[in-house]
Amino acid sequence: MALIVQKYGGSSVATPELMKKVAKRAIAAKNEGNKVVVVLSAMKGETDKLLKLARSVTPEPNPRELDTLVSTGEQVSVALFAMTAQSLGETVKSFLGFQAGISTDDNHGKARILSADPARIATELAKGRLAVVAGFQGIDKHGDITTLGRGGSDTTAVALAVALGADVCEIHTDVDGIFTTDPNVCRDARKMEKISYEEMLELSSLGAKVMEIRSVELGMVHNLKIHVRNAHNPSPGTIICQEDESMEKTPVRGVTHSTDEARITLVNVRDRPGVAARILSVVSKAEIVVDMIIQNKSAEGDGNRTDFSFTVPSNDYDKAMELLGNVLNELEAEKILGDDNIAKISLVGAGMRNHAGVAAKMFRTLAAEGININMISTSEIKISCVIEKKYAELAVRVLHEAFRLDLPPGENGGTEDI
Ligand code: ASP
Ligand code: MG
Repeated sequence: MALIVQKYGGSSVATPELMKKVAKRAIAAKNEGNKVVVVLSAMKGETDKLLKLARSVTPEPNPRELDTLVSTGEQVSVALFAMTAQSLGETVKSFLGFQAGISTDDNHGKARILSADPARIATELAKGRLAVVAGFQGIDKHGDITTLGRGGSDTTAVALAVALGADVCEIHTDVDGIFTTDPNVCRDARKMEKISYEEMLELSSLGAKVMEIRSVELGMVHNLKIHVRNAHNPSPGTIICQEDESMEKTPVRGVTHSTDEARITLVNVRDRPGVAARILSVVSKAEIVVDMIIQNKSAEGDGNRTDFSFTVPSNDYDKAMELLGNVLNELEAEKILGDDNIAKISLVGAGMRNHAGVAAKMFRTLAAEGININMISTSEIKISCVIEKKYAELAVRVLHEAFRLDLPPGENGGTEDI
């Protein structure tokens, strides 16, 4: 017997028919002898609808009231689930975030879970009953309703699983698991059996949208097994767990691309202490998150000049250009250049730690297609290149092929060919 937290995403409960399928699936898991807690998202499209509704009233809705509004999407889901399961003969109760003991800070719209005390859920489980909990929401110290940010139901599920000492947190979604790359871009994309927390964190922050980042972090801290699987397919999906030897055998495990960043370069900036800090403080004050940063001494001139490049989310590009344009004189920069016609291609793999040559092979592969690399950044388990946007999908396909990600680890030649 296991204690399982099953989270179902919005597309998995989008209609009453799907809700019934999901209820049957949860009941089946319970009838196999497990203790089952269900966490639900709002039905597909509902959160967006509520956000739009608020903005139709005022362009800047009050954050407290906005949370009161958007949290209702999940309230609808859990009530419908409970009714559905009851109609199937099951004894079950629905719980909102606060009833399930989810306490958060008061950062409305992006609240962090401070603690989970699911005593009432534990009581239901002890009675042999199903419990269904609204994801995405909690309560702050003032007793106000908060929401956790988009995709936050994943975090509710993981937090409850940790607090209840669950054996596994299952994230039921509309894809079969975590893939080596986006199957819409590359036909040979393969579902991975396992992936480490760190690899998943890199993939999530690089744009793989299957799991919300905070939920993976929370799972990692508590070493909770997370199983990402298809809500309407019984086959196993992908397990997110601690790194093991099999993962280290292959240097590259996934390729991602994102086209929602833009590059900004300040040309011939005066090279003295504090300049980089000044540039980035202008940007960060506007809550703009910088990703890649490159600074290089200019070979020309008096040697006291440097070019400073970095990337920002496309949404913030115009604003960042404007803000920096205003301080060019102060920075003693010659000019500012911007380019939003870029894509970031990344390779991720825990095995990179122990294997040399991955970067060289990546660059060789791109060069063979005539793809120029504009920026490069690395972490222990990731290499990212900025290239021209039009080559993004081609780059994904050739890299997927070059590193033989179509074959399972162990069968793809591992590191020999690098
Ligand atoms: N309903 C929320 C959203 O659409 C939370 C979630 O689905 O995880 O972002
Ligand atoms: Mg989601």
